[in-house]
Amino acid sequence: MDKIQDKKLGKIIRRRRTQVEFLCNICRTGYATLKQAQKCAAMPTEPKKFALGDRVTWRELARCSKKKGSFRIEAVVARVLSPNPPDEEYNSKWLGGALNGMHARQYEVHFRCICGGAREMLLYATEMKKL
Ligand SMILES: [Zn+2]
Ligand SMILES: [Zn+2]
Repeated sequence: MDKIQDKKLGKIIRRRRTQVEFLCNICRTGYATLKQAQKCAAMPTEPKKFALGDRVTWRELARCSKKKGSFRIEAVVARVLSPNPPDEEYNSKWLGGALNGMHARQYEVHFRCICGGAREMLLYATEMKKL
């Protein structure tokens, strides 16, 4: 894949044989048509709700593959990902469509599992709570 241009919305940025992609200028997602890229760019961006080092929990209970039982995580925000359209299936299945029509952020959180192992997860703000 050659990068041809990577500047403005609507410019051809990647060409793979005959395939051309248009880029959203907010999330850099590639689309087949300019219209789709413009539609994506028109979506609002969710403000940052958590910062690096924030202590948080997840609204669901976590499970361990080695030890029985579920537990409430006590995690630390280790990375804030750049805004992107949410995963559609996850958004509708687990978040009740709360992130429809926006560029949402994911937060990488690190925590200790009940088995003692170090774990990490990607979470949306809507499923996190400050500790
Ligand atoms: Zn976008
Ligand atoms: Zn574990």
